[in-house]
Amino acid sequence: MAAAESDREPPSALCSEFLDFSAKDTGLKWLQASDLPKAVYQHLARYVPKIYCLGPNLNPQNEDLLAQLLLQGPLEWYLCGEDPSIGLAKLEQSNQPSQLCGHVFKVGEPTYSCRECAADPTCVLCMQCFLGSVHKGHRYRMTTSGGGGFCDCGDTEAWKKGPYCQKHEPSISDSSQEDPLDQLSANMITRTYSVFSIVLRYAVDMLTWEEENELPAGLEPPERGDTYYCMLFNDEVHTYEQVIYTLQKAVNCTQKEAVSFATTVDRDGRKSVRYGDFHFCEQAKTVIVRNTSRQTKPLRVQVMHSSVVAHQCFALKALAWLGQVIGHSDALRRILCQVGLEKGPLGENSLVDTLMLCDSKMWKGARNVYHQLLMSSLLMDPKYKKLFAIQFAKARMLMTEENLMATIIRTFVEHLRHRDLQGRFQFERYTPQQAFKFRRVQSLLGDLKYVLISRPTEWTDKLREKFLEGFETFLELLKCMQGMDPVVRQVGQHIEMEPEWEAAFTLQMKLTHIISMMQEWCASDEKVLIEAYRMCLVALTHCHGGFADGEQPITLSMCGHSVDTFRYCVSQEKVIIHLPVSRLLAGLHVLLSKTEVAYRFPERLPLSELSPPMLIEHPLRCLVLCAQVHAGMWRRNGFSLVNQIYYYHNVKCRVEMFDKDLVMLQAGSSMMDPNHFLMIVLSRFELYHIFSSADGRKRHSRENANKDVIQQNNTLIEEMLHLIMMIVGERFTPGIGQVQPSDEIKREIIHQLCIRPMAHSELAKALPENENKETGMERVIDSVALFKKPGVTGRGLYELRPECAKQFNLYFYHYSRADQSKAEEAQRKLRRQSGEDSALPPPLLPPFCPLFASLVNLLQCDVLLGMLGVVLQWAVEPSGGHWSESMLQRVLHLIGMALLEEQQQLESSSEDDITFSFTLKISRPGEAPSNTPSILALLETLQNAAHLEVHKDMIRWILKTVASIKTMRERSSTSPVTDSGGQNHQETVRDKDKAERKRKAEMARLRREKIMAQMSAMQRHFIDENKELFQQSLEELDASTSASLEHSPSSPDAALLCVGPRRTRPTEKRQVVTCILCQEEQEIRGDGRAMVLAAFVQRSTVMSRNRHRPPPNPERHDPLFMHPDLSFGTHTGSCGHIMHSHCWQRYFEAVQAKEQRRQQRLRVHTSYDVENGEFLCPLCECLSNTVIPLLPLPKGSGSTEQPGLGLWLKTVSQQIKSLHSAHRKLRPVDAGAVDATSNMEDFPPPEGFKPDYVPVNPFSSTVKEMLTTFGTATYKIGLKVHPNEQDPRVPIMCWGSCAYTIQSIERLLVDEEKPLFGSLPCRQDDCLRSLTRFSAACWTTASLPSVQGHFIRLLAALLPDPEVESSPSLLDVDIFHLLVSMVMSYPSLHIQDSSGLSVDAAQQNLFQLVTVAHVVQVLLTSTPAEVTMDQESGGGHSEEEQSISALYSCLRRHLGGALRDVGSAWHLWRCVKAGVLPFLRAGALFFHHLNGVPTPSELHARGSGQWEYLCGYLGLPSNLLQLYHSNQDLLDPLIQGWCSHSSIQGLLQGSSPLVSYPRESNRLIDLPDDYSALINQASTFTCPKSGGDKSRAPTLCLVCGAMLCSQSYCCQTDLEGEDVGACTAHTFACGAGVGIFLRVRESQVLFLAGKTKGCFYTPPYLDDYGETDQGLRRGNPLHLCQERYRKIQKLWRQHSITEEIGHAQEANQSLVGIDWQHL
Ligand SMILES: [Zn+2]
Ligand SMILES: [Zn+2]
Ligand SMILES: [Zn+2]
Ligand SMILES: [Zn+2]
Ligand SMILES: [Zn+2]
Ligand SMILES: [Zn+2]
Ligand SMILES: [Zn+2]
Repeated sequence: MAAAESDREPPSALCSEFLDFSAKDTGLKWLQASDLPKAVYQHLARYVPKIYCLGPNLNPQNEDLLAQLLLQGPLEWYLCGEDPSIGLAKLEQSNQPSQLCGHVFKVGEPTYSCRECAADPTCVLCMQCFLGSVHKGHRYRMTTSGGGGFCDCGDTEAWKKGPYCQKHEPSISDSSQEDPLDQLSANMITRTYSVFSIVLRYAVDMLTWEEENELPAGLEPPERGDTYYCMLFNDEVHTYEQVIYTLQKAVNCTQKEAVSFATTVDRDGRKSVRYGDFHFCEQAKTVIVRNTSRQTKPLRVQVMHSSVVAHQCFALKALAWLGQVIGHSDALRRILCQVGLEKGPLGENSLVDTLMLCDSKMWKGARNVYHQLLMSSLLMDPKYKKLFAIQFAKARMLMTEENLMATIIRTFVEHLRHRDLQGRFQFERYTPQQAFKFRRVQSLLGDLKYVLISRPTEWTDKLREKFLEGFETFLELLKCMQGMDPVVRQVGQHIEMEPEWEAAFTLQMKLTHIISMMQEWCASDEKVLIEAYRMCLVALTHCHGGFADGEQPITLSMCGHSVDTFRYCVSQEKVIIHLPVSRLLAGLHVLLSKTEVAYRFPERLPLSELSPPMLIEHPLRCLVLCAQVHAGMWRRNGFSLVNQIYYYHNVKCRVEMFDKDLVMLQAGSSMMDPNHFLMIVLSRFELYHIFSSADGRKRHSRENANKDVIQQNNTLIEEMLHLIMMIVGERFTPGIGQVQPSDEIKREIIHQLCIRPMAHSELAKALPENENKETGMERVIDSVALFKKPGVTGRGLYELRPECAKQFNLYFYHYSRADQSKAEEAQRKLRRQSGEDSALPPPLLPPFCPLFASLVNLLQCDVLLGMLGVVLQWAVEPSGGHWSESMLQRVLHLIGMALLEEQQQLESSSEDDITFSFTLKISRPGEAPSNTPSILALLETLQNAAHLEVHKDMIRWILKTVASIKTMRERSSTSPVTDSGGQNHQETVRDKDKAERKRKAEMARLRREKIMAQMSAMQRHFIDENKELFQQSLEELDASTSASLEHSPSSPDAALLCVGPRRTRPTEKRQVVTCILCQEEQEIRGDGRAMVLAAFVQRSTVMSRNRHRPPPNPERHDPLFMHPDLSFGTHTGSCGHIMHSHCWQRYFEAVQAKEQRRQQRLRVHTSYDVENGEFLCPLCECLSNTVIPLLPLPKGSGSTEQPGLGLWLKTVSQQIKSLHSAHRKLRPVDAGAVDATSNMEDFPPPEGFKPDYVPVNPFSSTVKEMLTTFGTATYKIGLKVHPNEQDPRVPIMCWGSCAYTIQSIERLLVDEEKPLFGSLPCRQDDCLRSLTRFSAACWTTASLPSVQGHFIRLLAALLPDPEVESSPSLLDVDIFHLLVSMVMSYPSLHIQDSSGLSVDAAQQNLFQLVTVAHVVQVLLTSTPAEVTMDQESGGGHSEEEQSISALYSCLRRHLGGALRDVGSAWHLWRCVKAGVLPFLRAGALFFHHLNGVPTPSELHARGSGQWEYLCGYLGLPSNLLQLYHSNQDLLDPLIQGWCSHSSIQGLLQGSSPLVSYPRESNRLIDLPDDYSALINQASTFTCPKSGGDKSRAPTLCLVCGAMLCSQSYCCQTDLEGEDVGACTAHTFACGAGVGIFLRVRESQVLFLAGKTKGCFYTPPYLDDYGETDQGLRRGNPLHLCQERYRKIQKLWRQHSITEEIGHAQEANQSLVGIDWQHL
């Protein structure tokens, strides 16, 4: 094993042989060879096994070099007959490049298709070509390539328009007509031909070679050793995990190695997993086969001799070489095509055929290489592209030449072998295997589609003949489908097994577009259409012969009419859902109706052969079936039937199912007596007996026995009435009604939008797509809808144009019942709002085409009038279930339709043409013996019926219309001249009437509007009141704290001062808050019961100026000084909700207990991690992980006279000295330090300072406990360590978190352009206040000496202290963190001091000292690089400028050349002001919250003069330099000290990047406006770990711009002992655990927090319709929406990502289960 696994030895023995080799000699020798193939094979046989496969680890780089030298070299010499570098260059020069782009797509590369111009959706362009094409301005579609396709630019057949981009535009001398071979010498052609033949043959032989041990003749190696590979192949059966597990066992490798093997197998299709002698490899094979054979078929493994593998390796190389060589010249490419497609001398398969036939046997890697070659050769050559396409059934216009259509369909039919006795398809249960088989069959359909895609513009007789031949074959296919899967109603028992139905519907769905396309072809030629119609009719007649129904003839009679038909009950006999032949005939019938012939010579149509009752029979049964299912009669047939009915109506199928059945009924009934037709309908609905009896009123006495039956029949009557409406009313298909194609789509859109406003994608989903996935919506949408843009959330919506509402038809045939009721509600509401009555009368309809014209008579035929009368009669009595509201509504609608028909005819036709006399017929009462009242009389009765209140408006509308029709008729029957006076009179009366009504209506409308306005105002108010319910309650609670303290400037004139002995004293007030858990009120006191604020502490890199700094080592990191790059901080946030500490503890314990139970029981995760202390705020469910105690304002001491900076520093220094000695005494004396410490004399404490004094802790035990709780949490999270409340770093982390949080809020306010005070949400204000006061108090729970030690070290950074070693330089300290820590730690000194120094004085002096230090920092780092001359005019040197100059010169004196000369003091001062401002603002926030001093109103607004107000509030001179000048003696030595720090010079000379001030706010990376730029960027991204492989899920870090290979085994890494994906790993370095990513392929934003939390977030890219496209399914062009991106950025900047994830996970539990860490 050791030998076998050893690394490959360099082939030293061969070196000399290789070095002596001359490619030139060999190549030239071949030129003389008599048997060239033999010579080349001998050469390959000798060298290939010496170069390839000499060890277990293949080393392609070495091999490729040797192969180039030893193998390709001679081939190229032979080819060129001279030095190839010269020969190939010559070829290239004389080459005329092809007009085809042929760019081969990488996985994930963007591709573009034009929705307007592409011949079919598979025609695509590469980005380069797209940008240079006309389609850029069209409606295009963008997708990402799955890899392997190629760009169709230049292919004139792929594009209806603009086939060339600018680059591939043919030159004037069209070179594509020339033969590229003309450019080569005959010799060259011969040589190329022979070398290509040999190499291609060799490659094909080797790649299709199946022997494991032998080689093809002529390639046997001169010597063969016992060296084998155990080769593992990919299959689709075994999972990654199975393979990995098996490999670990079989070849004894680590998990990592196994993963890498499995990855390669998956990628390349095969991988050698072992190298060694035969026995050794065979062993591994046995184990693998044994291990995987149990569950399924075993993994494919071969033990292959190394020489075989070597030749296969070189074969791939050879193919690649061919691809590369033909790239030099189109002539070479053409020769290769010839070689590849040439059949053998005996008609054997060509080489390309051989490859294609073996395609499925080859491993993936080999397949990829030869596909590439095919694409760069055959598909790039204009001549061969076509030839090649013929071979694979992919050319257009091939119908005539190859009889393609018929061939494909026959092949297809052969694939579906199972038939019943009538030859109809029978499907087995639709299993995954079947689905798989089906998919292969479907690729044939794809080919058929391809053939049909471009309709011919000119027909030849030959084309007609071939098309019709294909059409006939197609009819054969449809005949096999006609009648498949019949259903029979189940009575008694429920069906036992759901019958198979999916296969038939899948087939139907796949054929839908083909059927439609067939019809389009037919429509383009009248002769073809008529012939196809005939053929279809024959086919249908033939089918009907097959339906044996045992029909029994019967005669129906009603209302004085009778018709012969036969007995048939849908509810008892077989019903057929699949009727493709009949539906195709319906489609052709409509097309016929559109033709000239139909208008002018209808007698020429083959209509005489039709038997209308036969035509309608099956479609009618199918529709009755739907009605019965709806009426609940088929419940026992289970879900399969429900599903079938659903798909029958669904947008994906209905065009060639439901729609066509309706057309067939329209066609059939237009050729029948309407009374006959309706009687047959009644009979099939099984309602004939109800309406045929002499007196319909008696219905119920007969049915009373069974309520269910009445209910059923009611539904059936409703459905039947609806069907009649559809037959008469659906006229929007060109050919049925006189409409344009666009009218049909407009009507669909209008009816969708009548339901509610919809987004573009919703509309697109509701509309049928054509074969190009187009709905045609764009052409018409603007004429019927208005687009409303989306806001920061949501999506753009289309609203119906108000003027289109009148086209609304409540009984629109594509409405589901749910759609219908929603639309009804919406439209009634709309009418009410515009002050109209609530009637929804039918819309005006377009006239029918002549073939269908007689359909209108249905509305006035006796049978229908009889039915209408019966229902109205029933309605006279209030319904006790005897009739239904919707039945009546439909009757009224039908009457309305008839009236409108009559009205329209009266308006448009001349007197003689008027055939419609509905109003007359409904005025006639029934004849004896029933003597029923007329319909009109009934309506007048019903008008006043109390139980018909809802229909009153509609009845009123009907009566009004009847009246107006009567007037019209009277008017037209009398001469207008004689009666003009009367008419005028009548008209004026009518007008007056009208005007009066209008006035009243208007007044009513105004009144309503006023009421509405009032109501909506009230509503708005209510919402506003309640929206901020939580916020509000909090603000009230806060009234005592914030409001009273902050906004009560005692007198407006008194300048407010927040720091120092003279600071403004807030008026003391009790602070009372309410616990959200127990609702009790509680005063906040240090010695009382503790109150806490729910809080979330997290690490943060949001402000980091250096993302390359590695995360600190948790155990050893000293956090005392924050680096100015702020690379890792600790942020504290809160939802602002307050609880008693004990209430919170009880709550948290309950959560813990619940979680434990839940985990034991269900092992589900929650959105929060209880073990890490996480919980959801009990009120707002905001993610929290600790609580902050609330503390009262510390009592301020009186302001006695306090020392200035100098004196103060001196006193403190003395105190520190005495502390040093006190601390030394405390420390155990360790051996090494004895000498050093003993030298130090004891330092007597200065007056009033008592280092031995042990202070009393002022806080109650619960407050102390909470101080520890929050402190420990901050420490634990901030440092990522185990909690340890004793650690001296606890208070440091708390101060740090306070400083960091204040700084981040200060940044946020700047970024959001908000004023410093008064604009924060109160939860943030509360959080800052309690955080600051907590930080000031947290030292009390730590050991006093350690806190004093911190203060000493902090101060030493500014004030030299000989006893403190290794203080950081001034440039290594964030000054605000320093200020906060010093102010917070100083009380540990002060507590032992009774000399009268006040804390206020300390705060002021520390602040001033730090401010000076910061000014120095700014001067050292942030002076302008170049002095521009745009100095402000009037530029006399101000006081500030003079003093800044002085300080700067002083610094330059100390630092010498390290600081450049800046001539302009004005610039210096400007830089200092700008650089120091953020610090001052943060300082103001800090002291405001610390000391509770109200804020000046000027700082509640933005604007000029902020600097002065800010300095005033902080007690600083507005000329900051005065701080320096007034203490120059004291400060100069300090400054000199700062400048002479050992690391300063280095830093200034750039030893590491300097932070300059003001620090810029971090932003998320800039994203391109066009999303495809991102896709393109991602497509060039390769996985960093698997050597140039494409990454499957390229993911962009929006924080730093890094591209990652996410969600993939290859890039998993170990993070703290767990395998995590690239994204999770990245967040730990880049975002301290929080990450914001864009998944480029998915167009989806990903938020991650820690290893377990994550959610998806809407991307900031929108299409033109204001919608995102998550998953990139629609492919509309996407553009960046800045507002949405800014919203994401804001979430990030305010540290709300984790909170957002929490909310998302709470809202959608399925997010919790996702393995976020593997992304
Ligand atoms: Zn291209
Ligand atoms: Zn192009
Ligand atoms: Zn276009
Ligand atoms: Zn409570
Ligand atoms: Zn809350
Ligand atoms: Zn990053
Ligand atoms: Zn990877």
